[in-house]
Amino acid sequence: MTGRSLKGYVKIDKERCKGCALCIDFCPKGSIFLSEELNLKGYFVAAFDPSGDCTGCGHCALMCPDVAIEVARS
Ligand code: SF4
Ligand code: SF4
Repeated sequence: MTGRSLKGYVKIDKERCKGCALCIDFCPKGSIFLSEELNLKGYFVAAFDPSGDCTGCGHCALMCPDVAIEVARS
């Protein structure tokens, strides 16, 4: 089956991110991971994998307590 599906793209403001991993836990597509990059506050930040199956569902942005995530759909 090759149904058309929405493509999403996620932008993470790494200086807002605290590395809590909630967005990772709630992404149904496994499109966010914890990177090895530290932000200025010393947290390992979440990063988006654009090669995955992100649908732009927005769960990650809803869950982020620090409003660090923006979701775009196309
Ligand atoms: S928009 Fe949905 S599919 Fe895309 S990264 Fe966020 S939770 Fe995952
Ligand atoms: S939910 Fe927000 S603060 Fe937590 S890891 Fe994801 S982007 Fe960072």
